[in-house]
Amino acid sequence: MSFLTLTKLKKTYPDGTEAVKGLDLAIGEGEFVVFLGPSGCGKTTTLRMIAGLEIPTAGRIQMANQDVTHHPPSRRDVGFVFQFYALYPHMTVRQNIAFPLENIGLSPDEIETTLSRVSEGLGVTPLLDLFPRQLSGGDQQRVSLARAMVRKPAVYLMDEPLGTLDADHRLELREFIRQQQMALSVTAIYVTHDQEEAMSLADRMVVMNAGEICQVGAPSEVYHHPASLFVANFVGSPGMNLVHGFISSTESGSQFRRKNSNIGISLGAREKSGEAILGIRPEFITPRESGLPASVTLNEYLGGHRIIHLDTPLGNLVMRSPQNQPLGVGTPLQIDLDRDHILLFDPDSGTQLA
Ligand code: ATP
Repeated sequence: MSFLTLTKLKKTYPDGTEAVKGLDLAIGEGEFVVFLGPSGCGKTTTLRMIAGLEIPTAGRIQMANQDVTHHPPSRRDVGFVFQFYALYPHMTVRQNIAFPLENIGLSPDEIETTLSRVSEGLGVTPLLDLFPRQLSGGDQQRVSLARAMVRKPAVYLMDEPLGTLDADHRLELREFIRQQQMALSVTAIYVTHDQEEAMSLADRMVVMNAGEICQVGAPSEVYHHPASLFVANFVGSPGMNLVHGFISSTESGSQFRRKNSNIGISLGAREKSGEAILGIRPEFITPRESGLPASVTLNEYLGGHRIIHLDTPLGNLVMRSPQNQPLGVGTPLQIDLDRDHILLFDPDSGTQLA
């Protein structure tokens, strides 16, 4: 049963920019949905329409079976968290966090219990008697989150709330956001352009590009079965290896080769002959005794693993390998592309071939 439904939602700004081009999306109650996409793809505009801060040009927004398309923000019961969330400068941290609870008329005891729980979770208890000007940027952002998440609205709308923080704080607060959202079972929509953040938080990811939805799915589904070349490349770090070439099929099976190359790889099952783009994630390429010849062009050490760049008859490929595989530049080796994880895309439409 969906809790929030967007139907053919559109936003064209007065200068003619088509920011959102007719989105259809249904979000379940208590679901954590992440909008992921490059800068300018329409994520913030969509979120602002859901919050009531932007009026749609066309389409409908339904929340809990009510049409809220033209309701003001105050009638939508949303908790909005921005990247830059201003705190009240004349109030202490305690007063800032307690303010939304006083507004909804909780008793002093209820306020104290909720405030303690959230302050502990976000590590702001030692800061409760300080004023915002006495806090570092990271601490101000924690307090902002505490103030936004202390209440249980119908839906949390979060627009890059961790954008200004350093890596350590991002990880810590990400964990808090997810735990708090699950503990309170609040439906959440979170906007980011960081694919790792999206995958770690989302029940479902909504990948957007140029005002449209490219794919909706669980992180593992989007990662392993990207619906298009755009998604294949945008999700994953590094993105999927993509090789433009040809499929040639005979009775005995299919081969994939690059133009002007006579070395190819077997695809096993028979595919339709013709131009195609082959996709494979770096972790599905492995060294093998007799395979595709390759030579190392760069070996990046990333702590827990290495990213190895290879020159091959299929062009440049990137392989993910264990950290104990030093493989110096120029080392010749042979590689295997795991057939079960090869994807084929139509070069014209960018969609996956059947
Ligand atoms: P970012 O991650 O950079 O915030 P986004 O995916 O959230 O990007 P939006 O901010 O929704 O994208 O913007 C979508 C498009 O609409 C962009 O081309 C942007 O320049 C344009 N846009 C946003 N706000 C306005 C506005 N008030 N007037 C005109 N165009 C706008």
